[in-house]
Amino acid sequence: MTRPINVVVLGATGSIGQQTLDVIDRNPGRFKLFGLTEGVRSTNRQAEFLVQGKAGESDFDAQVEAMVTDPRCDLVVVAIPGARALMPTMSALKAGKEVALATKEVLVMAGALVMKAAAGRAQGAFPIAKSIRPIDSEHSAIWQCLWGEERENVRRLILTASGGPFWAHPDLDLDQVTVEQALNHPRWSMGPKVTVDSATLMNKGLELIEAHHLFGIPLDAISVSIHPQSVVHSLVEFVDGSLKAQLGRPDMRLPIAVALAYPDRLPDAVPPTTLSELSGLEFQELDEKRFPSVRLAREAAATGGGHPAVLNAANEEAVNAFLGREIPFSGIVRTVERALSAFTGSGGSLDQILEADRWTRAYIRNESGSLRAT
Ligand code: MG
Repeated sequence: MTRPINVVVLGATGSIGQQTLDVIDRNPGRFKLFGLTEGVRSTNRQAEFLVQGKAGESDFDAQVEAMVTDPRCDLVVVAIPGARALMPTMSALKAGKEVALATKEVLVMAGALVMKAAAGRAQGAFPIAKSIRPIDSEHSAIWQCLWGEERENVRRLILTASGGPFWAHPDLDLDQVTVEQALNHPRWSMGPKVTVDSATLMNKGLELIEAHHLFGIPLDAISVSIHPQSVVHSLVEFVDGSLKAQLGRPDMRLPIAVALAYPDRLPDAVPPTTLSELSGLEFQELDEKRFPSVRLAREAAATGGGHPAVLNAANEEAVNAFLGREIPFSGIVRTVERALSAFTGSGGSLDQILEADRWTRAYIRNESGSLRAT
Protein backbone atom coordinates (compact mmCIF):
# COMPACT_ATOMS: atom_id res chain seq x y z
CA MET A 1 0.00 0.00 0.00
CA THR A 2 1.25 3.46 -0.83
CA ARG A 3 1.78 5.89 2.04
CA PRO A 4 -0.78 8.62 2.77
CA ILE A 5 -0.39 11.97 0.98
CA ASN A 6 1.24 14.53 3.30
CA VAL A 7 -1.00 17.59 3.22
CA VAL A 8 -0.20 21.10 4.45
CA VAL A 9 -3.21 23.32 5.18
CA LEU A 10 -2.48 27.05 5.08
CA GLY A 11 -5.32 28.83 6.86
CA ALA A 12 -6.63 25.84 8.84
CA THR A 13 -8.89 27.91 11.10
CA GLY A 14 -10.89 29.49 8.25
CA SER A 15 -14.02 28.05 6.69
CA ILE A 16 -12.22 26.21 3.83
CA GLY A 17 -9.42 25.14 6.18
CA GLN A 18 -11.85 23.56 8.64
CA GLN A 19 -13.66 21.70 5.87
CA THR A 20 -10.31 20.51 4.48
CA LEU A 21 -9.41 19.09 7.91
CA ASP A 22 -12.79 17.36 7.88
CA VAL A 23 -12.05 15.71 4.50
CA ILE A 24 -8.58 14.64 5.74
CA ASP A 25 -10.04 13.23 9.00
CA ARG A 26 -12.56 11.14 7.11
CA ASN A 27 -9.89 9.60 4.86
CA PRO A 28 -7.07 8.67 7.27
CA GLY A 29 -5.45 6.03 5.06
CA ARG A 30 -5.29 8.39 2.14
CA PHE A 31 -4.22 11.71 3.65
CA LYS A 32 -2.05 12.77 6.57
CA LEU A 33 -2.08 16.26 8.07
CA PHE A 34 1.60 17.14 7.73
CA GLY A 35 1.45 20.82 8.64
CA LEU A 36 -0.94 23.68 9.21
CA THR A 37 -1.19 27.36 10.01
CA GLU A 38 -3.58 28.67 12.61
CA GLY A 39 -4.90 32.17 13.12
CA VAL A 40 -6.10 33.35 16.51
CA ARG A 41 -8.07 30.20 17.28
CA SER A 42 -6.52 26.76 17.79
CA THR A 43 -7.54 23.64 15.84
CA ASN A 44 -6.09 21.35 18.57
CA ARG A 45 -4.32 19.35 15.88
CA GLN A 46 -1.10 17.38 15.95
CA ALA A 47 1.19 17.72 12.95
CA GLU A 48 4.85 17.81 11.99
CA PHE A 49 4.61 21.59 11.53
CA LEU A 50 2.26 23.90 13.41
CA VAL A 51 2.65 27.59 12.60
CA GLN A 52 0.64 30.18 14.50
CA GLY A 53 0.19 33.82 13.59
CA LYS A 54 -0.52 35.90 10.56
CA ALA A 55 0.93 35.85 7.05
CA GLY A 56 3.13 38.88 6.46
CA GLU A 57 4.84 38.59 9.88
CA SER A 58 8.46 37.59 9.24
CA ASP A 59 8.52 34.69 11.75
CA PHE A 60 5.33 33.23 10.34
CA ASP A 61 6.49 33.60 6.72
CA ALA A 62 9.85 31.90 7.40
CA GLN A 63 8.21 28.91 9.11
CA VAL A 64 5.61 28.57 6.35
CA GLU A 65 8.41 28.62 3.77
CA ALA A 66 10.19 25.77 5.60
CA MET A 67 6.95 23.78 5.87
CA VAL A 68 5.79 24.06 2.22
CA THR A 69 9.26 23.37 0.82
CA ASP A 70 9.95 20.36 3.12
CA PRO A 71 10.73 17.30 0.96
CA ARG A 72 8.11 15.25 2.87
CA CYS A 73 5.28 17.65 1.96
CA ASP A 74 3.26 16.47 -1.08
CA LEU A 75 0.30 18.83 -1.38
CA VAL A 76 -0.31 22.37 -0.11
CA VAL A 77 -3.87 23.59 0.40
CA VAL A 78 -3.82 27.39 0.17
CA ALA A 79 -6.75 28.83 2.12
CA ILE A 80 -5.24 31.96 3.69
CA PRO A 81 -7.56 34.79 2.67
CA GLY A 82 -6.42 37.59 0.40
CA ALA A 83 -3.14 38.84 -1.02
CA ARG A 84 -1.10 37.32 1.82
CA ALA A 85 -1.50 33.90 0.22
CA LEU A 86 0.61 34.85 -2.80
CA MET A 87 4.14 34.33 -1.45
CA PRO A 88 3.53 30.91 0.18
CA THR A 89 1.82 29.73 -3.03
CA MET A 90 4.82 30.78 -5.11
CA SER A 91 7.19 29.03 -2.66
CA ALA A 92 5.20 25.78 -2.83
CA LEU A 93 5.03 25.81 -6.63
CA LYS A 94 8.71 26.61 -7.01
CA ALA A 95 9.49 23.69 -4.67
CA GLY A 96 7.55 21.41 -7.04
CA LYS A 97 4.56 20.81 -4.75
CA GLU A 98 1.02 20.15 -5.84
CA VAL A 99 -1.12 23.15 -4.87
CA ALA A 100 -4.84 23.06 -4.11
CA LEU A 101 -5.82 26.70 -4.33
CA ALA A 102 -8.80 28.21 -2.56
CA THR A 103 -7.52 31.80 -2.47
CA LYS A 104 -8.53 33.36 -5.77
CA GLU A 105 -6.57 36.56 -5.05
CA VAL A 106 -3.34 34.69 -5.82
CA LEU A 107 -4.28 34.25 -9.48
CA VAL A 108 -5.99 37.63 -9.70
CA MET A 109 -2.84 39.45 -8.58
CA ALA A 110 -0.16 37.44 -10.31
CA GLY A 111 -1.87 34.92 -12.60
CA ALA A 112 0.77 34.93 -15.33
CA LEU A 113 3.66 34.45 -12.88
CA VAL A 114 1.84 31.83 -10.82
CA MET A 115 0.88 29.79 -13.89
CA LYS A 116 4.45 30.03 -15.17
CA ALA A 117 5.71 28.65 -11.84
CA ALA A 118 3.13 25.84 -12.08
CA ALA A 119 3.64 25.06 -15.77
CA GLY A 120 6.87 23.13 -15.29
CA ARG A 121 5.00 20.07 -14.14
CA ALA A 122 1.97 20.48 -16.43
CA GLN A 123 4.05 19.55 -19.50
CA GLY A 124 1.72 21.48 -21.77
CA ALA A 125 -1.25 19.37 -20.74
CA PHE A 126 -4.74 20.84 -20.96
CA PRO A 127 -6.34 21.92 -18.77
CA ILE A 128 -3.25 23.58 -17.37
CA ALA A 129 -5.06 23.66 -14.00
CA LYS A 130 -3.75 20.12 -13.52
CA SER A 131 -0.74 21.60 -11.76
CA ILE A 132 -2.89 23.91 -9.65
CA ARG A 133 -6.02 22.20 -8.40
CA PRO A 134 -8.79 24.77 -7.98
CA ILE A 135 -10.94 24.68 -4.84
CA ASP A 136 -13.17 27.59 -5.86
CA SER A 137 -16.44 25.76 -6.67
CA GLU A 138 -16.89 27.35 -10.11
CA HIS A 139 -13.35 26.54 -11.19
CA SER A 140 -13.56 23.05 -9.79
CA ALA A 141 -16.70 22.60 -11.91
CA ILE A 142 -14.98 23.88 -15.07
CA TRP A 143 -11.90 21.79 -14.31
CA GLN A 144 -14.02 18.64 -14.00
CA CYS A 145 -15.85 19.48 -17.26
CA LEU A 146 -12.48 19.86 -19.02
CA TRP A 147 -10.95 16.54 -17.95
CA GLY A 148 -10.09 14.65 -21.15
CA GLU A 149 -10.95 17.59 -23.43
CA GLU A 150 -8.70 19.43 -25.90
CA ARG A 151 -8.10 23.19 -25.68
CA GLU A 152 -9.13 23.85 -29.31
CA ASN A 153 -12.56 22.30 -28.69
CA VAL A 154 -13.50 24.78 -25.96
CA ARG A 155 -15.50 27.79 -27.11
CA ARG A 156 -16.64 29.46 -23.90
CA LEU A 157 -16.65 29.18 -20.11
CA ILE A 158 -19.80 30.18 -18.22
CA LEU A 159 -19.36 31.06 -14.56
CA THR A 160 -22.54 30.80 -12.52
CA ALA A 161 -23.28 33.28 -9.74
CA SER A 162 -25.91 32.99 -7.03
CA GLY A 163 -26.32 36.76 -7.22
CA GLY A 164 -25.81 37.19 -3.48
CA PRO A 165 -28.38 38.64 -1.06
CA PHE A 166 -29.26 41.76 -3.10
CA TRP A 167 -29.70 40.43 -6.63
CA ALA A 168 -33.31 39.36 -6.17
CA HIS A 169 -34.25 42.73 -4.59
CA PRO A 170 -33.88 45.35 -7.32
CA ASP A 171 -35.73 47.94 -5.23
CA LEU A 172 -33.13 47.88 -2.42
CA ASP A 173 -31.00 51.03 -2.27
CA LEU A 174 -27.41 49.74 -2.25
CA ASP A 175 -26.28 52.95 -0.49
CA GLN A 176 -28.39 51.96 2.49
CA VAL A 177 -27.94 48.20 2.93
CA THR A 178 -26.27 47.09 6.18
CA VAL A 179 -23.31 44.85 7.01
CA GLU A 180 -25.74 42.28 8.46
CA GLN A 181 -27.75 42.21 5.22
CA ALA A 182 -24.59 41.81 3.12
CA LEU A 183 -23.37 38.92 5.29
CA ASN A 184 -26.66 37.06 4.96
CA HIS A 185 -25.80 34.95 1.91
CA PRO A 186 -28.77 32.96 0.55
CA ARG A 187 -26.87 29.77 -0.41
CA TRP A 188 -23.27 29.44 0.73
CA SER A 189 -21.75 29.64 4.19
CA MET A 190 -18.37 31.38 3.79
CA GLY A 191 -16.01 33.85 5.47
CA PRO A 192 -17.01 37.56 5.67
CA LYS A 193 -14.70 38.80 2.86
CA VAL A 194 -15.98 36.41 0.20
CA THR A 195 -19.57 36.83 1.41
CA VAL A 196 -19.40 40.59 0.88
CA ASP A 197 -17.68 39.92 -2.46
CA SER A 198 -20.65 37.84 -3.55
CA ALA A 199 -23.02 40.63 -2.54
CA THR A 200 -21.13 43.15 -4.74
CA LEU A 201 -20.59 40.46 -7.42
CA MET A 202 -16.87 41.34 -7.21
CA ASN A 203 -16.40 37.68 -6.32
CA LYS A 204 -17.47 36.85 -9.88
CA GLY A 205 -15.14 39.53 -11.29
CA LEU A 206 -12.22 37.98 -9.40
CA GLU A 207 -13.31 34.51 -10.53
CA LEU A 208 -13.38 35.62 -14.15
CA ILE A 209 -9.70 36.64 -13.92
CA GLU A 210 -8.96 33.42 -12.02
CA ALA A 211 -10.57 31.28 -14.76
CA HIS A 212 -8.75 33.18 -17.50
CA HIS A 213 -5.38 32.28 -15.99
CA LEU A 214 -6.19 28.75 -14.79
CA PHE A 215 -7.58 27.51 -18.09
CA GLY A 216 -5.88 29.84 -20.58
CA ILE A 217 -9.20 31.03 -22.02
CA PRO A 218 -9.50 34.64 -23.33
CA LEU A 219 -11.38 37.10 -21.10
CA ASP A 220 -14.07 37.73 -23.70
CA ALA A 221 -14.77 33.99 -23.96
CA ILE A 222 -15.77 33.83 -20.29
CA SER A 223 -19.24 34.98 -19.29
CA VAL A 224 -21.27 35.16 -16.09
CA SER A 225 -24.79 33.87 -15.62
CA ILE A 226 -26.93 34.46 -12.52
CA HIS A 227 -28.19 31.12 -11.23
CA PRO A 228 -29.93 31.66 -7.87
CA GLN A 229 -30.19 27.94 -6.94
CA SER A 230 -26.37 27.40 -6.96
CA VAL A 231 -26.81 23.83 -8.17
CA VAL A 232 -25.03 24.19 -11.53
CA HIS A 233 -21.55 25.20 -10.38
CA SER A 234 -20.38 26.36 -13.84
CA LEU A 235 -20.39 25.25 -17.48
CA VAL A 236 -18.19 24.81 -20.54
CA GLU A 237 -19.44 25.32 -24.08
CA PHE A 238 -17.66 23.36 -26.81
CA VAL A 239 -17.24 24.13 -30.53
CA ASP A 240 -19.87 21.56 -31.52
CA GLY A 241 -22.51 23.42 -29.47
CA SER A 242 -22.43 20.98 -26.57
CA LEU A 243 -22.60 22.26 -23.00
CA LYS A 244 -21.05 20.41 -20.07
CA ALA A 245 -21.92 21.36 -16.51
CA GLN A 246 -21.03 20.09 -13.06
CA LEU A 247 -23.93 19.94 -10.62
CA GLY A 248 -24.40 19.32 -6.95
CA ARG A 249 -25.44 20.82 -3.67
CA PRO A 250 -23.61 23.96 -2.55
CA ASP A 251 -21.11 22.19 -0.30
CA MET A 252 -17.42 23.16 -0.41
CA ARG A 253 -16.33 19.72 0.80
CA LEU A 254 -16.90 18.46 -2.76
CA PRO A 255 -14.41 20.80 -4.55
CA ILE A 256 -12.00 20.23 -1.64
CA ALA A 257 -12.31 16.44 -2.03
CA VAL A 258 -11.85 16.69 -5.81
CA ALA A 259 -8.70 18.81 -5.37
CA LEU A 260 -7.22 16.52 -2.71
CA ALA A 261 -7.93 13.21 -4.41
CA TYR A 262 -7.32 14.13 -8.08
CA PRO A 263 -7.39 12.16 -10.35
CA ASP A 264 -9.32 9.85 -8.04
CA ARG A 265 -12.68 10.56 -6.38
CA LEU A 266 -13.47 10.14 -2.69
CA PRO A 267 -16.49 7.90 -1.96
CA ASP A 268 -19.32 9.81 -0.25
CA ALA A 269 -17.45 13.13 -0.08
CA VAL A 270 -20.89 14.76 0.09
CA PRO A 271 -24.45 13.37 0.09
CA PRO A 272 -25.66 12.60 -3.46
CA THR A 273 -27.84 15.15 -5.26
CA THR A 274 -31.29 13.77 -6.07
CA LEU A 275 -32.87 14.60 -9.42
CA SER A 276 -35.89 16.18 -7.71
CA GLU A 277 -33.51 18.83 -6.34
CA LEU A 278 -32.72 19.82 -9.91
CA SER A 279 -36.17 20.99 -10.92
CA GLY A 280 -36.75 24.70 -11.33
CA LEU A 281 -33.23 25.77 -12.21
CA GLU A 282 -33.12 29.40 -13.36
CA PHE A 283 -30.52 31.39 -15.29
CA GLN A 284 -30.58 35.16 -15.72
CA GLU A 285 -28.38 37.70 -17.43
CA LEU A 286 -26.08 39.79 -15.22
CA ASP A 287 -27.24 43.41 -14.69
CA GLU A 288 -23.88 45.16 -15.16
CA LYS A 289 -25.35 48.60 -14.51
CA ARG A 290 -26.43 47.81 -10.97
CA PHE A 291 -23.49 45.45 -10.39
CA PRO A 292 -20.50 46.84 -12.36
CA SER A 293 -17.85 44.64 -10.63
CA VAL A 294 -17.53 42.05 -13.39
CA ARG A 295 -17.01 44.76 -16.01
CA LEU A 296 -14.38 46.46 -13.81
CA ALA A 297 -12.53 43.18 -13.31
CA ARG A 298 -12.60 42.33 -17.01
CA GLU A 299 -11.21 45.78 -17.86
CA ALA A 300 -8.49 45.56 -15.19
CA ALA A 301 -7.41 42.14 -16.47
CA ALA A 302 -7.43 43.34 -20.09
CA THR A 303 -5.24 46.34 -19.14
CA GLY A 304 -2.99 43.91 -17.29
CA GLY A 305 0.24 44.90 -15.52
CA GLY A 306 -0.49 45.90 -11.94
CA HIS A 307 -4.17 46.66 -12.56
CA PRO A 308 -5.60 43.33 -11.39
CA ALA A 309 -3.51 43.65 -8.19
CA VAL A 310 -4.91 47.16 -7.69
CA LEU A 311 -8.46 45.87 -8.24
CA ASN A 312 -7.86 43.15 -5.68
CA ALA A 313 -6.16 45.32 -3.01
CA ALA A 314 -8.66 48.16 -3.39
CA ASN A 315 -11.48 45.67 -3.03
CA GLU A 316 -9.93 44.08 0.10
CA GLU A 317 -9.45 47.49 1.73
CA ALA A 318 -12.91 48.69 0.72
CA VAL A 319 -14.60 45.52 2.02
CA ASN A 320 -12.81 45.99 5.35
CA ALA A 321 -13.93 49.63 5.45
CA PHE A 322 -17.51 48.51 4.77
CA LEU A 323 -17.33 45.78 7.45
CA GLY A 324 -15.97 48.46 9.82
CA ARG A 325 -19.00 50.59 8.89
CA GLU A 326 -16.76 53.33 7.47
CA ILE A 327 -18.18 53.36 3.94
CA PRO A 328 -21.56 52.38 2.47
CA PHE A 329 -21.99 49.13 0.55
CA SER A 330 -22.05 50.92 -2.81
CA GLY A 331 -18.81 52.68 -1.79
CA ILE A 332 -16.90 49.39 -2.22
CA VAL A 333 -17.12 49.36 -6.01
CA ARG A 334 -16.67 53.16 -6.22
CA THR A 335 -13.45 52.84 -4.20
CA VAL A 336 -12.13 50.13 -6.53
CA GLU A 337 -12.98 52.24 -9.57
CA ARG A 338 -11.15 55.29 -8.17
CA ALA A 339 -8.03 53.34 -7.25
CA LEU A 340 -7.91 51.78 -10.74
CA SER A 341 -8.12 55.14 -12.50
CA ALA A 342 -5.51 56.71 -10.19
CA PHE A 343 -2.96 53.90 -10.71
CA THR A 344 -0.11 54.62 -13.13
CA GLY A 345 2.42 51.93 -12.09
CA SER A 346 3.35 48.69 -13.83
CA GLY A 347 3.21 45.04 -12.79
CA GLY A 348 5.28 42.68 -14.92
CA SER A 349 7.38 41.28 -12.07
CA LEU A 350 6.46 39.92 -8.67
CA ASP A 351 8.09 42.98 -7.01
CA GLN A 352 6.04 45.35 -9.16
CA ILE A 353 2.85 43.44 -8.34
CA LEU A 354 3.59 43.64 -4.61
CA GLU A 355 4.39 47.36 -5.07
CA ALA A 356 1.03 47.88 -6.84
CA ASP A 357 -0.63 46.16 -3.88
CA ARG A 358 1.17 48.44 -1.37
CA TRP A 359 0.49 51.56 -3.46
CA THR A 360 -3.23 50.78 -3.50
CA ARG A 361 -3.51 50.29 0.26
CA ALA A 362 -1.59 53.55 0.90
CA TYR A 363 -3.74 55.37 -1.67
CA ILE A 364 -6.91 54.23 0.04
CA ARG A 365 -5.63 55.21 3.49
CA ASN A 366 -4.65 58.69 2.21
CA GLU A 367 -7.94 59.13 0.43
CA SER A 368 -10.10 57.55 3.10
CA GLY A 369 -11.73 60.85 4.07
CA SER A 370 -12.93 61.61 0.57
CA LEU A 371 -13.77 57.94 -0.11
CA ARG A 372 -16.00 57.90 2.97
CA ALA A 373 -17.84 60.90 1.61
CA THR A 374 -18.59 59.17 -1.73
MG1 MG B 1 -16.59 30.66 -6.07
